[in-house]
Amino acid sequence: MTDISMLIDGERRAATGGATFERRNPLDGGIATRAPAATPADAVAAVEAAHRAFAAWSATGPNERRAALLKAAHALEARADAFVQAMARETGASALWAGFNVHLAAGILTEAASLTTQIAGEVIPSDVPGSLAMGVRQAAGVVVGIAPWNAPVILATRAIATPLACGNTVVLKGSELCPETHALIIEALSEAGLPKGVVNFVTNAPADAGAVVEAMVAHPAVRRVNFTGSTRVGRLIAQTCAKYLKPAVLELGGKAPFVVLDDADIDAAVNAAIFGSFANSGQICMSTERIVVDNAVADEFVSKFAARAQALPLGDPREGPVVLGSVVDMSTVKRCNALIDDALAKGAKLVCGGKAENTLMPATVLDHVTPAMEIYREESFAPVKAVVRVNGVEQAVTIANDNEFGLSSAVFGRDVARAWNVAQRIEAGICHVNGPTVHDEAQMPFGGVKASGYGRFGGRAGVEAFTELRWITVQTTPRHYPF
Ligand code: NAD
Repeated sequence: MTDISMLIDGERRAATGGATFERRNPLDGGIATRAPAATPADAVAAVEAAHRAFAAWSATGPNERRAALLKAAHALEARADAFVQAMARETGASALWAGFNVHLAAGILTEAASLTTQIAGEVIPSDVPGSLAMGVRQAAGVVVGIAPWNAPVILATRAIATPLACGNTVVLKGSELCPETHALIIEALSEAGLPKGVVNFVTNAPADAGAVVEAMVAHPAVRRVNFTGSTRVGRLIAQTCAKYLKPAVLELGGKAPFVVLDDADIDAAVNAAIFGSFANSGQICMSTERIVVDNAVADEFVSKFAARAQALPLGDPREGPVVLGSVVDMSTVKRCNALIDDALAKGAKLVCGGKAENTLMPATVLDHVTPAMEIYREESFAPVKAVVRVNGVEQAVTIANDNEFGLSSAVFGRDVARAWNVAQRIEAGICHVNGPTVHDEAQMPFGGVKASGYGRFGGRAGVEAFTELRWITVQTTPRHYPF
């Protein structure tokens, strides 16, 4: 069991009154972490520390911020083993997934470091003689980042790296399900020597999340909010941000369609679908959730897909390397068992896997899924996959778009022009032709449409999200006025 602290104004802090909450291991129920249960006043103290640090940090030169972010990337990588252990204890994740998290999170910091010299503005032609008119990007202020547990190192790092590169100061609100994993990121940033108050970290008991978040959003120094998590909570955050007129980037749920056209390279499609469906046991916002396959190739695809799925190693990640570790909690198991029962009762065919009794869920494939079944629409966020059979391109596009979510998607077809045209018609922020739905790189514009949220992280899109674009003029000649 690990005890962790918050970080406020450069100091490791307990919650006011010493309240704590516990995160338990999903497999054996043992206490994984004990973390401070912040009060709203603690969260406000973190915002105020960030506010005090803002003037100096936003005035630093780009190379000072770049150096700190690069140091943080190295400090993060140096903690790879600690991340692997913390993620196995807190969320049941495999070492493979934890290692990838650390690798990509370090890449996010490196990319943020390179962005420090790319925060550029423009000179805009003015109709006023002698007016030098500029669009100038400036740090916005305090940024509150709220991150989930499922890709914990990547998503919490993403919540703060580009904001810091742009000269903002930040408060990270950690997930109740992985406070130690999130605290390790903060440790790495502290080791990088960021001035006190530039990065702050609060943790809260689950029941206090709403109050803690609202206290921060309401604070006048907070100028941007970013949230990665479920659509249900994203709607609540959007309402809170609307109430206080705070711009937000919302990265929410997904139900990624994976379209297999009749001319697809089936083996390549199976490889991509296996990776996209079962990485981190399907607990990724970009996870392949609906395999939309043309009837002409469906039998071959499904039999090859199921054969690979059945062979994936499953087990307690603390005991050795696996692909499928533990899912995050029993509520995932119960939700998926109900989805499986519902689909089977309505005529789906179970091709492999099935209901689970504990958090070690097997790779499960349901074929002949129809719109009448709940799994057709709802995010399973688990290794339970739906195959929907279609006839032709038009029906494939219709089914791919028949969902409230729109984050990631993929299309497989050898006629790349045809596949590209399908990709253009899919209502999702991200689409990969002949690639998996799970694919993230720090420099790419990442984000969704529809119920998957709004705003973009990544590369220049991140700079736009976390800076203020101002119009500043200098009158260089005498100015004429009408009176
Ligand atoms: P979640 O929405 O339950 O929790 C995320 C965060 O919201 C936590 O920090 C929690 O403290 C906070 N929260 C909970 N209730 C709140 C409230 N009333 N007010 C304010 N904050 C509150 O999500 P989760 O279960 O941790 O993550 C899984 C979900 O996240 C899935 O739906 C997944 O698709 C989505 N996700 C999206 C992306 C993306 O980039 N689009 C990435 C990863 C995960």
